[in-house]
Amino acid sequence: MEKKDIDWGNLGFGYIKTDYRYVSNFKDGKWDDGEITTDDKVVLNECAGVLQYAQTVFEGLKAYTTEDGRIVTFRPDLNAERINQSAARLEIPTLPEGKFIDAVEKTVKANAAYVPPYGSGATLYVRPYIFGSNPVIGVKPADEYQFRVLVTPVGPYFKGGAKPIVIKVSDFDRAAPHGTGDIKAGLNYAMSLHAIVTAHAEGFAENMYLDSATRTKVEETGGANFLFVTKDGKVVTPKSKSILPSITRRSLIYVAKEYLGLEAEEREITLEEVADMAECGLCGTAAVISPVGKINDHGKEICFPSGMEEMGPVTKKLYDTLTGIQMGRIEAPEGWVHEIKI
Ligand SMILES: *Cc1c(COP(=O)(O)O)cnc(C)c1O
Repeated sequence: MEKKDIDWGNLGFGYIKTDYRYVSNFKDGKWDDGEITTDDKVVLNECAGVLQYAQTVFEGLKAYTTEDGRIVTFRPDLNAERINQSAARLEIPTLPEGKFIDAVEKTVKANAAYVPPYGSGATLYVRPYIFGSNPVIGVKPADEYQFRVLVTPVGPYFKGGAKPIVIKVSDFDRAAPHGTGDIKAGLNYAMSLHAIVTAHAEGFAENMYLDSATRTKVEETGGANFLFVTKDGKVVTPKSKSILPSITRRSLIYVAKEYLGLEAEEREITLEEVADMAECGLCGTAAVISPVGKINDHGKEICFPSGMEEMGPVTKKLYDTLTGIQMGRIEAPEGWVHEIKI
């Protein structure tokens, strides 16, 4: 198969239209079989549920080429599980067993020419999403839905190495204690946009959100979970019912314990104790780990000993091991690397 003529090493993180996408419709209480189409346009009634009441959920994963030339995705079973948890919370019909992975496989396969070659640093970002599609004006769930999967090639997250970023403690809240912070829904991003634009204008790369009930505990950023390394080399990540259960973070905890022999735990982490941490990073599919060098808490700076030049040593080991597993250079735990046969 001939690859597209794309300058893989210089791609950014933006949408590029590819040749194919997947569409399946939910009507009269059931999902149809779904199909691959070339049509990138979604035509909806002006009163569609998604447009009026934001009834939509999504996922994000990557397809990429391993060292030995296979096209794979990373733990898509967890994305399948999570989109159904998100859907259930917004009264969106869940996907039957196998439908999510089948849709991802079909879409990636159809767009194999867009899967970047091994070593380019680029990947094919896969975006599955479901939205309410029929007219809804009185507040209630839609009766009809569309499940789509689009893909777009994206560049290496870090061009020229991962430089630590500076973030701020936000005065905005991301999620309420019994709200929707633990699901992957567009609505959680809509309300984060003003906060991130404000943070960027002030010179910060990201916001650290605190728990909205007490504003003393670390939650997450707009789109990534925190990971800390204590001064005695333990990996800790915040435990909270209002953060999104990141697959990258869960994988890193496993890697810390099973591959690196480190102690690792999920527990409540107060903002106060962050000043005593040795390393800090943000984890998510896009970057795997973005190192954080400094946190600004209302003018008071928390500077991590790992500094502003490079990732901390433990963060680096975690990053190298997980990316090694993903790329096929290090043996993966059973079921982590899912091959898509072209
Ligand atoms: C998607 C997402 C993450 C990262 O999850 P991964 O499964 O690791 O990609 C973290 N926080 C939020 C709010 C997210 O939407």
